[in-house]
Amino acid sequence: MKRLLLILLLAVCGTCSTNKTTGRRQLLVFSPGHMNKLGVEAYAQMTGPGSKAKVMTDRRFTDPLQRVGKALAAAANRPDYKWEFRVIDDKTVNAWALPGGKIAFYTGIYPVLQDEGGMAIVMGHEIMHAILQHGNERMSQGTVAQLGLEVANVSLKNNQYRGPILSALGAGAQYGLILPYSRKHESEADRYGLMLAARAGYDPEAAIGVWQRMAALSEGKRPPVLLSTHPDPLQRIENMKRWMPEAKRLYERARVKHRAIPLPTR
Ligand SMILES: [Zn+2]
Repeated sequence: MKRLLLILLLAVCGTCSTNKTTGRRQLLVFSPGHMNKLGVEAYAQMTGPGSKAKVMTDRRFTDPLQRVGKALAAAANRPDYKWEFRVIDDKTVNAWALPGGKIAFYTGIYPVLQDEGGMAIVMGHEIMHAILQHGNERMSQGTVAQLGLEVANVSLKNNQYRGPILSALGAGAQYGLILPYSRKHESEADRYGLMLAARAGYDPEAAIGVWQRMAALSEGKRPPVLLSTHPDPLQRIENMKRWMPEAKRLYERARVKHRAIPLPTR
């Protein structure tokens, strides 16, 4: 049993790598090729023919997303990503990114974004989730946590406290490992997304308004910060203000400056 645990630990450490953008060590068990394939499949399932999603073709909605998406993708300069941007007709206030660069925005988020400047902030956030391989990291952590639980399950076979120990380990994997990392992911996507939007020529100041409007929406039904996968909206705004001087410098150096063209509403 001990040998199995050792092999597991070695395998895990062998797949740790330091992310060039963040300087943070990440556990990445899956290859980029595998993740891209999963991304393409999930995108087809979630937004393709036969899916429940109403993918919009109305250019009043799709043109702004294509414009902002392409500008930020160009600034990100990652030709290994096959970026795609789709608008889904749904009143949910949401946007998401899949591994490999498959992105969707719901029409419900348009009023919160207000204009292409606001859209660039959330686009930066989504693009950075993909570039920083957060999907791969989450899947890797889940896989390793599951393996760890199985190892513990076998090694505690004759232990009278097996039940309580296992449930404590399970809760530990959930609250100690997985949730803090997803908050870390949100904060990383916020920070590097802000810098990306600024480099692409969008005024980073728009971020404050976007997250303030987002905070106003979640008022009253905000889950306690410790158990939430999303950072406290007010904490988020504080962070944005802290990162703003650096983002402003990048924005000033950007070759093109984009206007904040108003977005359509449903
Ligand atoms: Zn996010």
